[in-house]
Amino acid sequence: MQNPKLLSKYYLKFTRELLVCNTIPEHRSIGAPNYKYPITSAAMTAFAAFYFQHPSLRSHESTLEQGVYLENFKKLFHREPVSCSQTVRNILDPVDQQSFVSVFDEVFRKLDRSGMFQALTFTPQVGLLLSGDGVDYFSSEEISCNNCSYAKHSQENGTKRTLYTHKMFNVGIIHPTENMFLPLSPEFITPQDGNKKQDCEQNAAKRWLTSFRARHKTVRATLQVDALHCNHEFLNIVLDHRFHFIATCKPGNSKTMYEWIETARNGKDTHVIEEKAIVKGKTKLFRYEYLSNVPIRDTEDSLRVNFISLSEIDPKTRKPIRKFEYVTDLPVKDKNVKTLIAAGRKRWKVENEGHNTLKNQGYYFDHNYGVRHEAA
Ligand SMILES: [Zn+2]
Repeated sequence: MQNPKLLSKYYLKFTRELLVCNTIPEHRSIGAPNYKYPITSAAMTAFAAFYFQHPSLRSHESTLEQGVYLENFKKLFHREPVSCSQTVRNILDPVDQQSFVSVFDEVFRKLDRSGMFQALTFTPQVGLLLSGDGVDYFSSEEISCNNCSYAKHSQENGTKRTLYTHKMFNVGIIHPTENMFLPLSPEFITPQDGNKKQDCEQNAAKRWLTSFRARHKTVRATLQVDALHCNHEFLNIVLDHRFHFIATCKPGNSKTMYEWIETARNGKDTHVIEEKAIVKGKTKLFRYEYLSNVPIRDTEDSLRVNFISLSEIDPKTRKPIRKFEYVTDLPVKDKNVKTLIAAGRKRWKVENEGHNTLKNQGYYFDHNYGVRHEAA
């Protein structure tokens, strides 16, 4: 199964089937006003609103009155929709988001069992390339709920404002060659301690690692993260959970590491490969550089990482035009440095495919479809 279009089609098919079959625990008492509607019908109606790119449940509700759409809905989801959007909200609001983790997991297992991981494996060394990043999917200064994160801002005129957001650590499988992002179950960034303490992206990422590894014990994968997570503590946790890592790094992440690299450069101890390539009719010069076994912080017990970088060099002035730098635990040699850089540079896929597509390409990912918020 090598065809990416087929892969994408299967992914949606599996998701739809599993949402239909998913057993969402019943939270209503017999005789509740909306008890006659199965919870899965409400879940599929909400999924359809998103799937068919409606900006709100209300606008989807009006489409449901159209005969052709209703027929399509029934063909696709094998059930009647719940036509009133308020009823959909009433049924789904109390449902724990954890109820949907099994849908993501079953899609993952089905892809595995169907042999599709072969097409998704980045290289045998990297395994599956998973990209993780924080994303906001709701923000407001007016309304909030107990699951909101908040940030206080002071304005120039002295007034204080509070921004309420819903965020998650979103992780997906990146296809080695195609612009494709297959989402895994996300970890929500939401107060964990009786709504008192704020949560943060790094803590959510740690919870994601623990929870994903507990559910998928044997999968071989490399987690790609941004510079926020490029530190001794987090990367050690990644290794403890038997994942590899490729993390973007910046001089601000570790003074010790960059000093170490600079010393090695001065002694010509870093490995450098330069090559010319014609890109869109122009000659470009690329410099790959790597250095193994670099301490990431200034302590005896520091994690040792392998530093890799790619610079695009102006052939005339020899000055760098663009630079990409990463650290990884995977062994680096002349023959695999380009592949590892390519895996690092695929990071933007999670931004483009995973988030921007959902927000800007017709899907209204950052719209508040129904979470009950109250005026702050
Ligand atoms: Zn909220």
